[in-house]
Amino acid sequence: MSDEGYEMQYIKEAFDTNWIAPLGNNVDEFENELAAKVGAKSAAALSSGTAAIHLALKAAEVGEGDIVFCPSLTFSATANPIIYQKAIPVFIDSDYKTWNMDPEALEKAFEKYESMDKRPKAVIVVHLYGLSANMDKILEICRKRCVPVIEDSAESLGSLYKGRHTGTLGDYGVFSFNGNKIITTSGGGMLISNNQEKIAKVRFWATQSRDPARHYQHSELGFNYRMSNIVAGIGRGQLKILDQRVAKKKNIFEFYKREIGGLEGVQFMPINEWNEPNYWLSCLALSGRVKPLDIMEALEEENIESRPIWKPMHMQPFFAEYDYVGGHVSRNLFENGVCLPSDTKMEDGDLEKIVRIIKGLWN
Ligand SMILES: *Cc1c(COP(=O)(O)O)cnc(C)c1O
Repeated sequence: MSDEGYEMQYIKEAFDTNWIAPLGNNVDEFENELAAKVGAKSAAALSSGTAAIHLALKAAEVGEGDIVFCPSLTFSATANPIIYQKAIPVFIDSDYKTWNMDPEALEKAFEKYESMDKRPKAVIVVHLYGLSANMDKILEICRKRCVPVIEDSAESLGSLYKGRHTGTLGDYGVFSFNGNKIITTSGGGMLISNNQEKIAKVRFWATQSRDPARHYQHSELGFNYRMSNIVAGIGRGQLKILDQRVAKKKNIFEFYKREIGGLEGVQFMPINEWNEPNYWLSCLALSGRVKPLDIMEALEEENIESRPIWKPMHMQPFFAEYDYVGGHVSRNLFENGVCLPSDTKMEDGDLEKIVRIIKGLWN
């Protein structure tokens, strides 16, 4: 069987055993296999990474009027579930060392809110583009105040921080298997934790909070957030090739860095000594004459897609009313950053063409 052929086997198994509905062997096994892979005690397979963030907030008892600290430089799916829970996001700036949540800005935010006798109910950390945040510092700041940490690892499945998988360092970890992520089930997510009771509760909420009674009885608000058995079958097959994907992504990054890392004003995303990233996307920041739009437009002319860095949440019209703590790092990264084409299906010729186009802009 080819390396990418396991998906069909598990899907067929689901059909053969008539478990096309949610729940069934693939869901249980995908949870077990993913938890074992990353080193977590338990996992709940859900319909999306967004659903996993939502239920992580609920598990952390975030409710109406509660404050949640969240990085500004991220995809909106990190922050939206805070609003689903009628809680209040406070956005935190990044630092250049990690591109992720700046521990100094986080400390400042705690102090600012403590001076108003307030404390966040949870802190969400993101490992952007597979780069791990400065977890020791962030955990120290949060642990000292007994505030739970949710790691949005939607982009960092397979990334290690000091040898441990991102998602397992805080109290809850979130993964996504959406179409654009490093492995995909077309859509899906996972919430992991060492708190098995909380994960059991999350599975209960995710299946409409059906009380264990023969009749349909509900004493809590329910959600239809469970992963289906078919989707979980795809996930089991994809998980087997995660390491291969990471290796390919790393090659792509290293090729780009070797070829264009020396161009004037090019700074590749930071790989810190503690971090073994999954290299989900190869990103860089520019500080010279060539601007991100120049690169994006030059590639677009050849029908090659590239993207800007996420637009920070504190700059988004929808989140404009919420507080922001920090300086201009997230804005600068957004304004000067580019995500280069990083698809593992690209061949050597494709990569060579891309760097040729980019180098041309420096002539
Ligand atoms: C993709 C992504 C999510 C959401 O995951 P979905 O499975 O698409 O709901 C959350 N946070 C970040 C940082 C993401 O990139």
